[in-house]
Amino acid sequence: MTELKKLAQMSDYYGSDPTLVLAGGGNTSYKTADVLYVKASGFPLSGIRENGFAALDRHGLQDLLLRGYPEDVENIDTQFIEDVMATRLPGEEKRPSVEALLHHGFDFPYVLHLHPTVINSLTSAVNGKEEAERLFGQDQVWVKLVHPGYGLARYCWDLQQEHKAKYGKYPRFLFLQNHGIFIPGNSPEEIGVALDEVISKIKACYTKEWDADLAPINTETVGAVKDILEQTYASVLYCGQKSMVAMCESREAAAGVLRPYNPDQITYCRSWPLFCESVESIEADLKNYSETIGGLPKVIIVRGVGLFTAGADLGEADRAMQLFLDAGKIAFYAEAFGGYHQLDDDFIDFIDNREVENYRRGVANKNL
Ligand SMILES: [Zn+2]
Repeated sequence: MTELKKLAQMSDYYGSDPTLVLAGGGNTSYKTADVLYVKASGFPLSGIRENGFAALDRHGLQDLLLRGYPEDVENIDTQFIEDVMATRLPGEEKRPSVEALLHHGFDFPYVLHLHPTVINSLTSAVNGKEEAERLFGQDQVWVKLVHPGYGLARYCWDLQQEHKAKYGKYPRFLFLQNHGIFIPGNSPEEIGVALDEVISKIKACYTKEWDADLAPINTETVGAVKDILEQTYASVLYCGQKSMVAMCESREAAAGVLRPYNPDQITYCRSWPLFCESVESIEADLKNYSETIGGLPKVIIVRGVGLFTAGADLGEADRAMQLFLDAGKIAFYAEAFGGYHQLDDDFIDFIDNREVENYRRGVANKNL
């Protein structure tokens, strides 16, 4: 089997596991000394084939990695994407993942990058860095939150070189704060062993379990909320899972989900959910949301009733539901690591602006 086929199989295997990949988040790569094959934008991991990867010149990528940008360069993010695109091999027309340069920087042939809820319960926790060190020691490197793009790729590369200089070997995985994990390896099997180890060690720290059973609900009230929302949205979904409903009991109980943890949540849920004090207040609350924040929320919490997601079609409402449940579980399980750590306003603004820019240019979610 060719290496590229192995890469496609590894990508499809993890991409098809809903506990590991939500709404297509994550990417993979394989490299030789000269060429990086990295997942292309618009090709979900699940079902990907050998033709779903963009081929880039690694010598060009290495130049870019070391060259960097002057401090005062304008539009560094746009420039960076253009510079990565310029390393495509002749004839390559697919758009490489925005994380391509980061993939290039690993000194291993295969790289798996995912944003699983379990791993993000550690990366999005107040004591995430200390707990990652305690659990995984020199096997890991903690990558503090920096804006995605050139800065993140260079920072990850620098940290790996420092680790090698200090301990004589590269780390087995990188934990990216409020983002996910990168696992490099000599084979997909080696990566699988590392991923299983990380997930089982994190889960072993949990002291409680998310209750996905349905809470006893008043179906009439849920129906009334749906009727109101369906006047505005084409698709509305409800989540009645006990642990989620418990978070909808009050604004205080919902504090862990009123602010996002990662860019995927911003992309699919918008940064700010709408919290409604009662069924009667929903219409006024929606109006107020569009006047103060702009547009419509994708996530609507109704106190004492539960969580609703809404969109222009079922897919939009469903992706918002997946990513908002991700936020709920992160808030819930991060307690094992000192409590949750949400994104600050500066980072949220950065991602929001990127989303607006992507929308303007008609580019689908670049996290994909
Ligand atoms: Zn990512």
